[in-house]
Amino acid sequence: MKVGLVGNQNSGKTTLFNYLTGMNAKIGNWPGVTIEKKVGKIKGTEHEITDLPGIYSLSPYSIEEEISRKYVFDENPDVIINIVDATALERSLYLTTQLMELDTKVIVALNMADLLEKKGIEIDEKKLEKLLGTKVFKISALKETGIDELVKEIDKKEDLKREKVFDSKIEDAVSKMQNTIKDKHSKFTSIKLLEMDQRFSSRNTKEFDDIRNNLEKEYDTDLEEVIATERYSFIEKTKKEVCKEKKGIVTLSDKLDKIFLNKWIAFPIFVVVMFLVYYLSVGVVGSATVDWVADHMDALGESVGGALEGAGASEWVTSLVVDGIIAGVGAVLGFVPQLIILFLCISLLETTGYMSRIALLFDKLFRKLGMSGKSLIPFIVGSGCSVPGIMGTRIIENQDEREMTSILVPFIPCSAKLPIISLFAGYFFADNSGLASASLYFFAIIVIIISAFILSRTKFKHVSSSYISELPEYKVPSAKYVAKDVFDKVMAFIKRAGSIILICSIVIWFLLSFSFSMEYGVDIEDSILASIGKSISWIFYPMLGQNNWGATVSAIQGLVAKEQVVSSMAVISGLAEDVEEGSEIFAAGTPFAGITAASAYAFMVFNLFSAPCFGAIGAMQRELGSTKRMLKAVLFQTGCAWILATIVYQVGSRIENGTLNIVNVLVIAVILIAVIAIIMSKIKRGKEGCKSCPYCDSCK
Ligand code: GDP
Ligand code: MG
Repeated sequence: MKVGLVGNQNSGKTTLFNYLTGMNAKIGNWPGVTIEKKVGKIKGTEHEITDLPGIYSLSPYSIEEEISRKYVFDENPDVIINIVDATALERSLYLTTQLMELDTKVIVALNMADLLEKKGIEIDEKKLEKLLGTKVFKISALKETGIDELVKEIDKKEDLKREKVFDSKIEDAVSKMQNTIKDKHSKFTSIKLLEMDQRFSSRNTKEFDDIRNNLEKEYDTDLEEVIATERYSFIEKTKKEVCKEKKGIVTLSDKLDKIFLNKWIAFPIFVVVMFLVYYLSVGVVGSATVDWVADHMDALGESVGGALEGAGASEWVTSLVVDGIIAGVGAVLGFVPQLIILFLCISLLETTGYMSRIALLFDKLFRKLGMSGKSLIPFIVGSGCSVPGIMGTRIIENQDEREMTSILVPFIPCSAKLPIISLFAGYFFADNSGLASASLYFFAIIVIIISAFILSRTKFKHVSSSYISELPEYKVPSAKYVAKDVFDKVMAFIKRAGSIILICSIVIWFLLSFSFSMEYGVDIEDSILASIGKSISWIFYPMLGQNNWGATVSAIQGLVAKEQVVSSMAVISGLAEDVEEGSEIFAAGTPFAGITAASAYAFMVFNLFSAPCFGAIGAMQRELGSTKRMLKAVLFQTGCAWILATIVYQVGSRIENGTLNIVNVLVIAVILIAVIAIIMSKIKRGKEGCKSCPYCDSCK
């Protein structure tokens, strides 16, 4: 038998799937898209079970919903197990009412039964069975209870008759239409035709037009609205009959939410939390480990160099290994301790349930900007790496919102940008390195907010979204899960250092060691790389206050991988003449000697906002759907980066040399932002009605 697991996101599908299959699932991708597909056998049976992406309705608005809909209609499962979060009946039953229209056997699994008692909720599943006309089982996928009965039901013949959801006028019209349509899922198709769903327009006939027109006259409104309203009143009625809630039970999560979602202190807490994350990773751990790692890398370089020379290697081979590979790769690996802490903190924030609160916290603000709390998830994922962040935008239904988010995700500092931030912040803002790096994180948030504000009123006008904010309970994170998460991310970083960064280091070493006439061992000022850099360094003049070829070529290498910026700087300063062995990247005699705190901050800003690495650009192209639109996005990002970095330097350098008063600057900045906000709020956004859910703010 073919069994499909259908339900809302976070209803416990994957947990049940893993239990049923004993985690022996085949994992692949759905044809054409990179959303994970899991198929397995239910232990002890021959049933094939598929874990589908979470959906809220069978009318697809997002790629996920389209996949689940296709499975239900095109792959003809024998049984659909509808997983329902028993603690959120109202929200979950919408999908159930649609599944009830199908000619496929449906079994409802009321999951999270273990939480019901804690929350003071009682559900009469026998009554629910009668009201829906499908078998209902109370289970807990997590505590593994009630599942055997559910599995036994798969083989049995369905002996209940589906109940009616709509009032008799609509139900009668539907039966009439069903007599004409006849094929599988005729009830579902009829209702879609009444709703005038575009996807079913080819099935429309004159007869149906008449039926619809008559009904519309009787109800005097749009049938789509009537159908949706009746679904909700059915759900409400059902819930009232089967569900008893004891009032006044306050869970620990409720108490914690009083603090973390408090109107006044929630946002300051978030700022403090993120500051602590950066303070811990860049400030405390960074300053403790960077020198130690650098010393050991130098020592490694020296001993390998010595060994190579001793074995009779030529000077250039030794230089390639020591000054190219070890210096380049080592510079990046030096940041691993900080990354472990950063990943650990973010993983803890996610698994405890705190990040979901942040999503909710930003939801209101984001909505005004044309984004929903849902866009926040790609940003959170993007703080690890932009590529999965950009791919994660697929959970967003609205196309404009999805595309806008995929362009803005690379603005959030990803882990590969941490080495850049840490290097500059650590050197130029020594005692305040944690503060300086955290400030960039908040800088990024402000730029994202302003960009979204502007883009949603100019380029992406049709944003609107239906985000159902779900708050999982706060949890003590599983050590195993967190450890694996951190390990996977760190390994991915190390692998990049061992592959992309290694190759780039060799290329950079070559371009630095040879002149255009292929002469080895020239002063790096005469090398190929320096010549290229010098011809274009004027582009960076406004943000660095000098023509700096070293910074120029390093920033451009950020296209390959952002870590490469640091790696390239390490190789360049290592090969610079008149610099003592093992001295810092910014030591006198290196091309970077002239960088000041203002230009350092400006350079960080440029690298933070400019075009992301090729991997992320590729992901953006896939999400935006064309090379031309991708190029426009890259131009937008790099343009933003250049302008912002230039402003930072021009203002910063004047504060540095005392010609500008910092208070004046702050006041002017606030006034400017206010003016932009006022002008922009006058420009109306286009509206595209929200249809898929009843519970978001705009529908209430
Ligand atoms: P999916 O999005 O539907 O695949 O949901 P998951 O299987 O990923 O589960 C979402 C969250 O709910 C996870 O944190 C699970 O541990 C939790 N969960 C799933 N089933 C249960 C259950 O029966 N009881 C409780 N308390 N939590 C559950
Ligand atoms: Mg899942």
